[in-house]
Amino acid sequence: MRLLDDVIGLFFPRLCNACQALLLKNEEIICTRCLLSLPRTNFHLHHDNPVMETFWGRIPLESATAYLYFSKAGHVQHLIHQFKYKGQLEAGRMLGRMFGKDLLQSPYFKSVEIVIPVPLHWSKKKARGFNQSEIFGQEIATVMGIPLLSDVLIREKATATQTRKSRFERWQNVSYVFSVINPAKIEGKHILLVDDVITTGATIEASASALLGVPGTKVSVAFLATASH
Ligand SMILES: [Zn+2]
Repeated sequence: MRLLDDVIGLFFPRLCNACQALLLKNEEIICTRCLLSLPRTNFHLHHDNPVMETFWGRIPLESATAYLYFSKAGHVQHLIHQFKYKGQLEAGRMLGRMFGKDLLQSPYFKSVEIVIPVPLHWSKKKARGFNQSEIFGQEIATVMGIPLLSDVLIREKATATQTRKSRFERWQNVSYVFSVINPAKIEGKHILLVDDVITTGATIEASASALLGVPGTKVSVAFLATASH
């Protein structure tokens, strides 16, 4: 099989999902050099950090963090692009496991009991085949030893009567609303809401406020990447 692997490698070279260099035989998904130089924010070690500040005065969160710094045309951008649009799900799973280990080391995420991924509208999930937040969120949940629930929060297209649009939705020119189904599953729980990249924070503001409408819930947020330094 070694020979067969070598022959396959000639025609389908395995590339690093971040820098696109050829992977060595003992490397998987991301090359060692990229793994060692991933631009981690370490925001999980500081309660008040730039991601948390994004939500001040907008929505009461317990804690918020992002795993990596995201820069346009950088390796993190390529990595997330490969995961989200090229179906390289293993790259997302690997990031989720590493992120989960960091969160376990943080005093601010210790009381989290449930992971909930920010949902896609059903038609978008159908077209893409998966929800990227659910893929890496599942790994975070597994590492933290808690369940991921994908049947609680849903995203629907807003009707004409729902006129209050957030900044993000106006910019996207499509408006979505989030609703909670099965509220009993989250009553009184501390929820970790997970999403891929933070832009304006409007998606989280809308989805967290739906979750906070259920009695006794607390919400913390974890993003894979952030553009803010
Ligand atoms: Zn690399």
